Amino acid sequence: MNDKYIPYGHQQIDETDIVVVAYTLKSDFITTGPKVKEFEDKIASYCGAKYAVAVSSGTSALHSACVVAGISQGDEVITTPITFIATIAGIVHCGGIPVLADIREDTINIDPHEIENKITGKTKAIIPVDFSGHPANLDRIKHIAKSNGLIVIEDACHALGAEYKGQRIGSISDMTVFSFHPVKHITTGEGGMVLTDNEDYYKKLLVFRNHNIIKGINHWEYKVNDFGFNYRITDIQCALGISQLKKLDYFIERRREIARMYNDAFARPNEIITPVELNSVKSAYHLYVIQLRSLHRDPIIRWLVEKNIGVQVHYIPAHYHPCLQKCGYRQGDFPKAEAYYSRAISLPLFPSMSDDDVNYVIDAVKSIIARCT
Ligand SMILES: *Cc1c(COP(=O)(O)O)cnc(C)c1O
Repeated sequence: MNDKYIPYGHQQIDETDIVVVAYTLKSDFITTGPKVKEFEDKIASYCGAKYAVAVSSGTSALHSACVVAGISQGDEVITTPITFIATIAGIVHCGGIPVLADIREDTINIDPHEIENKITGKTKAIIPVDFSGHPANLDRIKHIAKSNGLIVIEDACHALGAEYKGQRIGSISDMTVFSFHPVKHITTGEGGMVLTDNEDYYKKLLVFRNHNIIKGINHWEYKVNDFGFNYRITDIQCALGISQLKKLDYFIERRREIARMYNDAFARPNEIITPVELNSVKSAYHLYVIQLRSLHRDPIIRWLVEKNIGVQVHYIPAHYHPCLQKCGYRQGDFPKAEAYYSRAISLPLFPSMSDDDVNYVIDAVKSIIARCT
């Protein structure tokens, strides 16, 4: 028995991170200063994007992207039911209508065929989610968007550092959104970012982040056409982000190493379906999700939690929530997403997990599966 609880995700903060944060605290700017732009420039350059705007969370980044994409009352936006609820909140908060499309069974990402079936005259955008760090079928989605005059906002909160056909995520869609929550690849405590190559979106994002304030000629003058939000991020957070970014390649390598250990260990028990990684991508492995072929999932989760293993489920299908059932969705609407959900268990995966931790999880999973089969 492990006496230490192993969560499904955890940040890794070292002394350097602490030193740079303390240094920023003693500087003239603790918010809206030089660290924000420096962090944005570094992420943009890492991902191969022209522009980046850092905000207070992944959720506010998604909302901002929807707003500057021009999504408004009655516009339809197509996305996946297997995502965090924040993906959909962004659509609804600007008056848009979320239109869900079922997933592919292999990658758990939105199925381009299903997207095509959902396009109407009111469709304005598509929000694919790079689930677990595995990029969605971005070429197909881009093609569908282009042929129908739609905007692609990629929810890449799981996929910082992932690659699609040799290209870094962040440089492919019209806008790409990242989160810097502590369970994600790098953290700023709370934080998020929108990347784009489009100068118009970029300028609008900068204004939207700061109450929609348009500055005047004199320093005290400003104008607000539409009510906005305070979605700013602090310099303290961005200093942490800059320091964390230096370790991103190592974090991803370690995540991939742990995923390989899991893959090797679970190749045998036929009961376990391991995650798919298509040849065309490099997953950033935010999550490692196994699926059970026939066993009942819930008791196995409870047993693993009793063994101090913080397994999780990503995600309860969005259309199970009352906020989407109010839009007319019902259980049964997305059979593939629902089948996936009934089988899915996210195992602990984060860079500071030791090999011993990984092996402890492997042994526990194998032993409970063996006992039940
Ligand atoms: C984490 C996450 C978000 C929200 O990010 P926050 O920074 O927590 O607001 C949105 N979408 C997905 C897929 C996420 O994993």
